[in-house]
Amino acid sequence: MTVFVLGSINLDAVARVDDLPRPGETVAGLSLELFLGGKGANQAVAAARMGVATRLMGAVGGDDSGAGLKAKLAGYGVQVGDVVELPGVPTGQAHVWVANSAENMIVVTAGANAMVTPQQVAATTIEGQRVLLCQLETPATAIETLFRAGSAKGALRILNAAPALPQGAALFPLTDILIVNQTELATYAKLDREPVKLEEVSVAARKLMSRPDQTIIVTLGAAGAAVVRRDEAFLVEGKKVKAVDTVGAGDCFCGALAATLAAGMDLAEAVETANAAAALSVQKAGAAPSMPNRREVEAFLE
Ligand code: ADP
Repeated sequence: MTVFVLGSINLDAVARVDDLPRPGETVAGLSLELFLGGKGANQAVAAARMGVATRLMGAVGGDDSGAGLKAKLAGYGVQVGDVVELPGVPTGQAHVWVANSAENMIVVTAGANAMVTPQQVAATTIEGQRVLLCQLETPATAIETLFRAGSAKGALRILNAAPALPQGAALFPLTDILIVNQTELATYAKLDREPVKLEEVSVAARKLMSRPDQTIIVTLGAAGAAVVRRDEAFLVEGKKVKAVDTVGAGDCFCGALAATLAAGMDLAEAVETANAAAALSVQKAGAAPSMPNRREVEAFLE
């Protein structure tokens, strides 16, 4: 009953603004907060908060923020023994602007995250890890090494192909469950607009399918998530809440899904639980600090 996450670890600097700036425009920030972030770290925190043993592999810089972020992760119950500290390299950072409308803009500088190597992955043991969870903020070569090892060990390989990158598609054949949002789906399926209705989402998702036994999950914001397989496609409706900050919603969804699948839940129920966890997360600011724990999710689902 364990989740192994390979992914990014960032220092998120979140500034609130009334309205997002246009190119060339300067706007006054209303507030600034520093958070633990990065898709890998966020998803690991979301999984650990669901009460499932979670290991994170990644890299931070040999700077103060790197050590601080590792300590924060450990505080959330994430096992960080596989997070290396690289001297002379900056820790990854994300500069996030959140408008009153809850819309956001984000710039990510990878720093140490770009230095995760296949050798680092090959040197660890993934014996007994039931679910492997990756995103595309660490090099695809490292993910490939992990997924090939996982395949030999019978682990469930989940790829959140975010952000949408050309090298991501090469990993799809090694993936058991692929998770994308509507924007990423449109990019990978080469559509000129985002699919909305279940029918168009399932047609687009099947374009990404490289094996008949694959599952593709498309997150649909407040509408919830679509589950697409070769022979079926169904919608798991989102939970109605008032969104305050949607940064990290997808990460919360992925981490909670991995944890509930590792705990043995069936897919439809796991997606329902992930929708609930993500809906709770959008009601709070920040990414990692907004991830709900298992008790909160269970209470919300009652
Ligand atoms: P991303 O964060 O990658 O853009 P989405 O916007 O699709 O991804 O959100 C991921 C998940 O978070 C959704 O599938 C849903 O479960 C939940 N979610 C996102 N926004 C809302 C919202 N406004 N209300 C309720 N749930 C939401």
